[in-house]
Amino acid sequence: MTDDAHLMQTYARLPVAFTHGDGAWLWDAHGKRYLDALGGIAVCALGHAHPAVTRAICEQAGTLMHTSNLYQITLQQELADRLCAVAEMDRAFFCNSGAEALEAAIKLARLYGHQRNIRSPSIIVAEGSFHGRTLATLSATGNRKVQAGFEPLVQGFRRVPYDDLEAVRAVAANAGDIVAVLVEPILGEGGIKVPQDNYLKGLRELCDQRGWLLMLDEVQTGMCRTGRWFAHQHTGIKPDTMSLAKALGNGVPIGACLAYGKAAELFQPGNHATTFGGNLLACRAALAVVEIMQTENLALRAATLGQRMLNALEQALTPLPWVKAVRGKGLMLGVELDRPCSELVAAALERGLLINVTAQSVVRLLPPLILSDEEADKITSTVIDLVTDFGARQ
Ligand SMILES: *Cc1c(COP(=O)(O)O)cnc(C)c1O
Repeated sequence: MTDDAHLMQTYARLPVAFTHGDGAWLWDAHGKRYLDALGGIAVCALGHAHPAVTRAICEQAGTLMHTSNLYQITLQQELADRLCAVAEMDRAFFCNSGAEALEAAIKLARLYGHQRNIRSPSIIVAEGSFHGRTLATLSATGNRKVQAGFEPLVQGFRRVPYDDLEAVRAVAANAGDIVAVLVEPILGEGGIKVPQDNYLKGLRELCDQRGWLLMLDEVQTGMCRTGRWFAHQHTGIKPDTMSLAKALGNGVPIGACLAYGKAAELFQPGNHATTFGGNLLACRAALAVVEIMQTENLALRAATLGQRMLNALEQALTPLPWVKAVRGKGLMLGVELDRPCSELVAAALERGLLINVTAQSVVRLLPPLILSDEEADKITSTVIDLVTDFGARQ
């Protein structure tokens, strides 16, 4: 009998372990099948056991996995080329997680500040944001629960409400130490909050006026999730840095910090490094992911399917008094209830559906982008049943 006696108790895990997967489906040891509407929290955008990704990883594992960044890594160069092409950015730094992809951006912002003789550079961050669990990224995160117990926090962050340009302007008016703004284009962990259309554009204008870097956390929203390669592309603006991870390797750990223009020239040899970052195995996996997303136009697929799901959820759920909002973009969807609803996760599991509840009262769906119409409809109809029953029972 195996249990978790020797695991640090960092997670409140559900009582299920999966043995294998195929596309949008997972199986447990008892042979029960689950439709995965969470995709490993926006990681498995191509679903489970995608044959082309599997082939790429196996081939690379049998050839060469790691050499270190002491040497040229052709696959890393190729991946940077491909990502910079779809993102219209200039350079990439590869790491192993979302938090590290943000650490790189934070370090870039500080270097940028010091080059401009700002001795104690600050970055504007938003309430309700989530940027990771390392000390700098938890300090940047706009959620007290993530920070509690880990003080002293890393300094140099100024917090403002999300989706509030006036608040950023107010900080700008009386702070000479600001060097950058760091936000998610849509709040993920914070409850699938889609800002007003002019938000990123307004931030871009402010950053241009003040000489600040606009740094986007696209760890969750990136890689076709919202119906474009990257969520900011809905708005027509371009960031100075963009952090990626989650879906980039479809489950093989890899993160990236992309940078444009002056931000792309800040790091010099000796400034930043990671042992595993951008190794051949991870880059090969990510190259396969980018290739599939491009040839199958999964951004468009996410947009179409997301609209179909959003329409179905809106139509059935917005009339219910306990449903506050149905929102999202592409295949990043949220249903906000008027009360905490984390028990819906277990109820869904029981019915063979994997979902998540974030910010206590928001049902979050981040299904694989390779979902069929039938699978998408099965997810929406089950969520509609669950949410309807939930309110009716209370
Ligand atoms: C998941 C996430 C992170 C952290 O990524 P890790 O790989 O867990 O370090 C950062 N930002 C956003 C928006 C995320 O969704």
